[in-house]
Amino acid sequence: MDDNRVDQNRADENQPQAAQTPVPLPASSAPVASRQPSPHDLEVLSRQLGRPVRDVVEIPARCVCGNPLVAATSPRLSNGTPFPTTFYLTHPVITSAVSRLEAAGLMNEMNVRLAADVDLAARYRAAHEAYLASRAEIGARSGIGAVPEIDGVSAGGMPTRVKCLHVLVGHSLAAGTGVNPLGDEAIAAIAEWWTADRCYCDGAWDTGGEVPSRDLSRHGPQGLPEIVGRPAPVRKSRGAEAAGAAEGAEAAGAADGADAAGTASTEETK
Ligand SMILES: [Zn+2]
Repeated sequence: MDDNRVDQNRADENQPQAAQTPVPLPASSAPVASRQPSPHDLEVLSRQLGRPVRDVVEIPARCVCGNPLVAATSPRLSNGTPFPTTFYLTHPVITSAVSRLEAAGLMNEMNVRLAADVDLAARYRAAHEAYLASRAEIGARSGIGAVPEIDGVSAGGMPTRVKCLHVLVGHSLAAGTGVNPLGDEAIAAIAEWWTADRCYCDGAWDTGGEVPSRDLSRHGPQGLPEIVGRPAPVRKSRGAEAAGAAEGAEAAGAADGADAAGTASTEETK
């Protein structure tokens, strides 16, 4: 499961010794109110995501323990690219809980309601406007300034659709309750897995070994490398024996036996 990380650590063995010397970290027990990301925050983000973070300019939401829940990315990346997805949900406990909601079809249900409920649609459009305003403020605070290329473009499907619940939850956590109605709903819907009043950080990401330093990932639905929605691992058929039991006439195809066996065992269950 963590093959990438292992490979990455191996690759890093080529690095000079200094890279392996652990940097002393500030105590993370005290709540940190600052929006400004500390070096420790950036390390935690990289560990949460399993890849190095870039262009993070603020930490707009934190766990009660002080760890980041959401990272705010600069509206213009350091390579000059305009970047509309400002609020990126990083906490693995929350991202996986939100993935469960997506898998259960909550986005479809929300889209149906958005089409039918004028009031909800208006509040969602207001959330879109709030998103744009927050991004402009972050751009101003971080010295990036205006990014006209993405004027009017928010994220997650706003203002009229829901395409990524992680984006909406990231926005709600950053903005506070009452700004993004569908993000708020999604947060309420994950209450059995995560609530804002408790710390769920223990064991939620790998705290040992090196901080991820090489980006091995692809761009995903939140507008940054994919951390959710990975395809399910291909299930190796337990019918390997079934393949073995196949008649000799099929032996020529036995090299591809896994698929054949899967089909066979499905038929066996009749
Ligand atoms: Zn925590």
